[in-house]
Parts: sequence; structure tokens; C-alpha cells
Amino acid sequence: MSESLNYYVTAYYRFTKLADLPAIQKALEDKAEELNVKGLVILGDEGYNSTCAASSIESFEAWKTFIREYFNSPDQFFKDSESTKSPFRRFKVKVRNEIVTTGIPGVMPPEGVNHHLSPTEWNKVMKEETDYVMIDTRNWYEYKIGTFKGALNPNIEKFTEFPQYIEAQGIPKDKKMLIFCTGGIRCEKGILELQDKGYNNVFQLDGGILNYMKEYPNDQFEGECFVFDHRVAVDQNLQPTTKFGLCPHCGQPSTIKIECKRCDAHELICEDCIKVEYAKDTCSKNCAYQLEKHPARKGQKQLVPFEIEKMKAEGKDTGSIPQIRVTRTKYISLNKNGEAETRSTKETAE
Ligand SMILES: [Zn+2]
Ligand SMILES: [Zn+2]
Repeated sequence: MSESLNYYVTAYYRFTKLADLPAIQKALEDKAEELNVKGLVILGDEGYNSTCAASSIESFEAWKTFIREYFNSPDQFFKDSESTKSPFRRFKVKVRNEIVTTGIPGVMPPEGVNHHLSPTEWNKVMKEETDYVMIDTRNWYEYKIGTFKGALNPNIEKFTEFPQYIEAQGIPKDKKMLIFCTGGIRCEKGILELQDKGYNNVFQLDGGILNYMKEYPNDQFEGECFVFDHRVAVDQNLQPTTKFGLCPHCGQPSTIKIECKRCDAHELICEDCIKVEYAKDTCSKNCAYQLEKHPARKGQKQLVPFEIEKMKAEGKDTGSIPQIRVTRTKYISLNKNGEAETRSTKETAE
């Protein structure tokens, strides 16, 4: 009988004034090393935003206790899940102006509650009311793989575009509006922006989709929820997706199987990159580049992430075979108008 690895994963954030970020960074890094915790923490003057994972339950609980004590937040809300797949390779702290990129730094949500609906209250509105509008505040590629029944898709590429979208819709200022995101943090800022523009009847889903699905799997949310780590997405039971890979060219969820023309590796490509020359026939940015330069030359076989996972699960050694790493930081992709462009993104916890 083979023993499969299990990872305990938690997502958490808090808006709170922080000073001496380098010292905080050092303390987090030291503790993560001591406990063998992996993950990403976005740190800013306005607070912290993080997803972390550990393979032992003791380390996992010790990390959460540390976060509560270190940041003096005994009521810190953690959204926990488990994963058979390692969500992170390393532990990283990134210091940023904003702990979630909204393009509106300096706007800090107040401590406490601002029109939050619990998953139960959210369900009640969805099942008993009709006079409201629900809007998915996430990016278009997140919406694409799963969303709430009847939610509008702003079709945005980044959260910065969200307030303009709302204004362009001509939604009456007193209309009941329900907004949600992955773990709740984008809405914390989004709601302030909307309230500032005079929308006075906006509600946000407390803890986001992750919190909702924990309480109500297979209910009003349909499909899977995109996450910002190696799991790619989680299903209704918060387990890593078995449907989607991570497109090696653009970092979006991918489902189309290809065999690389250059190195014969098998990979999953997204439905956008499958329309892009060279990307559509290759397993990696490197192979796409080489195929364009030297179309006739074959390359050495490489392993793509899902093959590595599979071989590890089968107890095979992957050490000597070159491995491809997928990053979301720079990629070529089609935008929503169908034009290919090079883009770069920041690593984010949501
Ligand atoms: Zn792609
Ligand atoms: Zn290849």
C-alpha cells in the first residue's frame, strides 16, 4: 500500500497597520523554516495576505498559533483545506504597497464588519430574494471555471477595472448588490470603493468562495474555484482539481492535451494558447521559443509539472530528467479581444 502525502493548507488575511516590515519578514521566514511551512505572504503597511501549507498537522497548527500571537490577532479567520498536491515549493514573503492589488492603495478597510454576509445569509438571499444583482469581482479566467448561479461576469483582467465596470452598468445606487471573490480580500476593498461612489446597498461574502464551499458544497456555487498556487483550482470539496492543469504558456487553467512538437512531452494547454502559433504545439515557453527559431530541431525530453506529480506518486525517481517550471510572472496569451500579447503579473495570494 502506498502512502500518499497530505498537505494542510490555509488562506488568511488581515487589514491592520504594520510597521518595520523587514523585521516582520525576518520573523516570518525564521518561523516558516523552523516549522517547514511553505507558502506566500504578501506584507504591507496595511496588513498581511497569505496562503501557507505544511505537511504535518503539528506544524500547521503551530504556524496558525504563531500568526495569531505574532500579529496579536486572536480572532484571526483561517480558511483551511487539505491537498494531496503540494501547493508551494518554497516559503516567500513579498513586501508590497497593497496586500491585494486593487490600484487603490491607502484605502484601508476598517477593522470589523462592513456588510458581510455569512455563507448561510448569502444562501438565504439567493434562495428567497429576486431583487438583487450579484457580481463576480474576480478576473475573467477565474469566472470561466466556476461561479455562483446567475452571477454577472465583469470580464475584467484585473481588479482595478472593477469600479469602472460597475459605473458603466448603470446599476441604481440603492440596488441590492452582492459581491464575492476567492477568499474575501478583494471585496473588502471593492466594497469601500463602491460605497465611496454612492452605492449604499452592497454586501460581500464573508471569507469568499472558499468559506462558502466549506459549508455548502454543491449548492449555489457551480464549477471549481481558481486558486493562486500549484493546485490551480479546488473542487466543491476543496480538493485540488483533477480537471485543470496550469497552462505552461500563460498560467491559466488548461484542459487541452497536446504532445510537444519539439520534445514530445505531454502537456495541457489552455483554450487561448491553443490558438497562438508555437504555443499551441509546445509544452513550455522554452520549447515554443526553440520551435520558432529552429523548427526542424528536436529537443531533449522534459517533464512537465503534472508528469512530475504522477511519477512521484508512483514512487519513481524524477531527479535526472530536466523539469519545466511554470510561472505566472511573464507569459504570452490572448487577451479578451483575442489579441496575443506579452504580459507579466505579480505573484499574489489572491
Ligand atoms: Zn495558456
Ligand atoms: Zn517541449
